[in-house]
Amino acid sequence: MKRLWAPWRLQYIENSADKKDGDCPLCSIPASEPPADKSPATIPDAPASTLLLYKGHFVSVIMNRYPYSNGHLMVSPLAHTANLDSLSAESSAELFAMIKTSVNILKKSLNPEGLNIGMNLGKAAGAGIDEHMHTHIVPRWSGDSNFMPVISEVRVMPEHLQTTYSKLKPLFELL
Ligand SMILES: [Zn+2]
Repeated sequence: MKRLWAPWRLQYIENSADKKDGDCPLCSIPASEPPADKSPATIPDAPASTLLLYKGHFVSVIMNRYPYSNGHLMVSPLAHTANLDSLSAESSAELFAMIKTSVNILKKSLNPEGLNIGMNLGKAAGAGIDEHMHTHIVPRWSGDSNFMPVISEVRVMPEHLQTTYSKLKPLFELL
């Protein structure tokens, strides 16, 4: 765990997180919490270990445990599908609405200078969890790629993730 911000780590992490048969993190993490409208912000602490920020009717928002940058989120449908075509109109609408909401929350709380938003569909495109589509949202700052060599000896600090989680979670709970 040396190069915290290296992009290829994305794939490594997702692969290693996803290796048990039938155990898809993008299904199992949201399944650990009832839908938002059935749990009126009652469990602020419980999901911290899963880094689940939000669960709606059709989509979830989860912090990437092995981020490309601080505040790296994944917005994914609750349905286990690799196929964009299989998303219903409601689910597509909620997915895009949550991308917009997440961007607004990230802008407000982390003040990034830019953001990358994208999907890797299929292993060949670099998807780590290729059977469950998800959208990456990666906050960016000028020079953050130049920053990489400087911190190449730094280890991923769980506290770092928890700090960001604590900053973001209350804003998602307001939704
Ligand atoms: Zn899944």
